[in-house]
Parts: sequence; C-alpha cells; structure tokens
Amino acid sequence: MNLADSESLARHLLAAGYREAPDLERADIAILNTCVVRQASEDKVYSKLHELRQWKTPDRTIAVTGCIVRKEGEGLRDRFRHVDAVVPIGEYQPFLADLEARYDYAMGEPLPLSGRTGISHYVNVIQGCDHNCTFCIVPKVRGREVHVPMPVVLSQCRQAVAEGAREVVLLGQNVDDYHDPGGGGGLAALVRDVGSIHGLKRVRFMTSHPQDLEIELLQVMAETPVVAHELQLPVQSGDDVVLKRMARGYKVDRYREIVGRARTLMPDLGLYTDIIVGFPGETEEQFLNTRRLLEEMQFDVVHLAQYSPRPGTHAGDRWADDVPVEEKRRRINDLLALQREIAGRRTARWIGRTVEVLVEGADELGRPYGRNRQGKRVVVKRARTQPGELVSVLVEEASPGQLAGSVAA
Ligand code: SF4
Repeated sequence: MNLADSESLARHLLAAGYREAPDLERADIAILNTCVVRQASEDKVYSKLHELRQWKTPDRTIAVTGCIVRKEGEGLRDRFRHVDAVVPIGEYQPFLADLEARYDYAMGEPLPLSGRTGISHYVNVIQGCDHNCTFCIVPKVRGREVHVPMPVVLSQCRQAVAEGAREVVLLGQNVDDYHDPGGGGGLAALVRDVGSIHGLKRVRFMTSHPQDLEIELLQVMAETPVVAHELQLPVQSGDDVVLKRMARGYKVDRYREIVGRARTLMPDLGLYTDIIVGFPGETEEQFLNTRRLLEEMQFDVVHLAQYSPRPGTHAGDRWADDVPVEEKRRRINDLLALQREIAGRRTARWIGRTVEVLVEGADELGRPYGRNRQGKRVVVKRARTQPGELVSVLVEEASPGQLAGSVAA
C-alpha cells in the first residue's frame, strides 16, 4: 500500500514537471513515505530524519507523508525542525502548491507518465479500515474506510493496461470489505469486471479478512481465467479465545470453512497468512492451538511476528505485555522451523508439473522470473522471454522461496 501511495505521489510530481533525482545529493526535495505498523518501522523514520539533518540546506525541502502523519501530526515538526512539510496521505495539492511557489524557476516540462507503468500495477480500492483489531494501529493512522467507486477503479486498470501493465493488484487494508459507493457491488463483482479487461493477464488482490470474505468471491476466482488462485488471508491465531481478545470477529472454524471451500474450488490455491505469537495473555495451550492450525492448514507462506505493543492500540494501552521476550522467541522459532518443513513440502509438489508464469523481469543472473497463478516466484531457465509474457514452465527445482524450470514444449 505504501508503494502504491509513493507511486501516486510520484505521478503527481512528474505531472507537475518535477524529475526523479538520480541520488539524494543531487535532489532538491526529499519525501519520506512512512510506515508505522511496527515500532521498528517507526524508529526507522526517526533515524532517517536524523540523517537528513546533514543534508538539509535552506534551498532543500524535506517532507514527510504516510502513516506517521496522522499519528504524530504537526508535532513532528516540533521534534524535527528541519522538516518543511507534513503531508497527509492523498492530500497532495496544498503541498504541490507550496513547492511550486518555491521552485517554479526550476520546473521542466511535465513528463509522460506512461513510461512508469510496470508489468504489475497496484490500484488502491479501499483506504483505511473499519475494524478495530486490538493490536493494530492502522485504523488510527489510516482512518475509516473510503471506497473508490468501481468505475474509477476500472478506468485506472484500463489505463494501466493501455500503458503496458499486464497484472493489476487491487489493494485494501481489508479488501474484502470493498463495496462500490455507487451500488455496483462488492469485491467479487469488482474482481470479475477487472478480470474481463482486454489485455490483462492476471488480477490479484490483498489483503483479505476471514470475517468479511464472501464465498461468491471464491467462485469468481475459480471461474475467471486471469484471476490468481492466491489468498492473502491472515489468521493471526489458531485459538478462539485469543482471536476474541484480538477482536478479529471470527473463530478458527470460520477460517477452516473458507479454506476448505477455496481448496475445493481451487485445489492448488496459494495460501498466505500472518500470525502473531505472544499476544497478551497467550498461554502455552493457546500457542499450541496455533501450532496445530499450521500443521492442519499447510500454508504456503506464514508471516510470523512476535507481539510488540503499539501505543494507541487497545492492547498496547490497556494490557500488560506479559509473555516474556524469551518465551515469544521460543514460540516464534518453533513455528518458523515447522513452517520451513511445511513450505518445503508445499513447493516440492510442483516438481514435474507445468505452471503458467507471468514474466515480470530478470533476476541478478539475467534469468527471467515471474509468478505462477498461485503467487509463487518462478525462475525461467534457458529462455528468452520478455516481461509481460505468459509462459508455460515445467518445474524442475523447488526451494521454499522459489521454483525454477524450463519453458515447456
Ligand atoms: S483488519 Fe487489518 S488493518 Fe484493520 S484493524 Fe484489523 S489488522 Fe488492522
């Protein structure tokens, strides 16, 4: 989502006649697009701002945008007096007007934006989140949900395809909650319509929510040839009591039901999830329930995190962070080892099979790579293919991180 926001701001700047500088030393303006989802990401912002103190001169501008803006507001400028502007996400016009007043003597001709569109193009369909998971800072820093009208999303996707994109990724903090403010339907309808755009070879969407995902969406995924068979579906815990304390709004059985239905319709579904260990009050037995769920679900990828309290969240402000750090570490290491084994088996199942790869670029050895329909990275050996081509690849090697193979006869 931050990448999509950065791209949107970059396009505003290019359209106004600015150019991307080759490096910081030759730049007049530095803009930090920030993430505060974890304390570590927030700390990174502060350390970057400290570094920029050396770079700052009266002719240079430092702006900060992204999630930190709602969290810290103008207070950021009290702490970092060398920051010139604090820019709320998506509200770029006043900032552009200030820049114009400062730099109009240096402006170039607006650049055509079409050259920036890559093979894969992100499109925000919802900003913000109406949930209130007790560990999460996102609703506070991104605000309540704002849904982009379906005709606008479709027009952005068509435009991206006209400029060379072959894949679009529909983004939302909780993308399953999407509904067209004009009454055109929810995510299933949107995915179906985007999937019918001529020239588009793949449609992905993220991130899903087990409470809001509609079964109709699974049917659309199964029936629409260009839609990826991939679900980014965070479960967060395998224990109902912990899920309740997290205010996730579903029980583990609901998660099982969705995955069961999805795998009936798409047996090779790529299943990706997020899990937090050491949530306040998490007992050994509750942790073991998460471990059992990992074994049962056989996820392709699990993004594991140790709970860390975020000020401004319900859990962070009201509950003791009572699982000791060493215990959190033990739990996460245990799950990491288990998932490594599972991921090894999951990827090995592709060996000897032919997969459809949308080529995105070349790796450091010059070999084309892309993803299969299930979201797995695939390297194509001994082949000349161009980004944007859809090729059939016979898988010869598998490691947890990627597959590799040759173009199938
Ligand atoms: S649904 Fe996701 S973004 Fe929204 S509050 Fe919960 S974890 Fe945060």
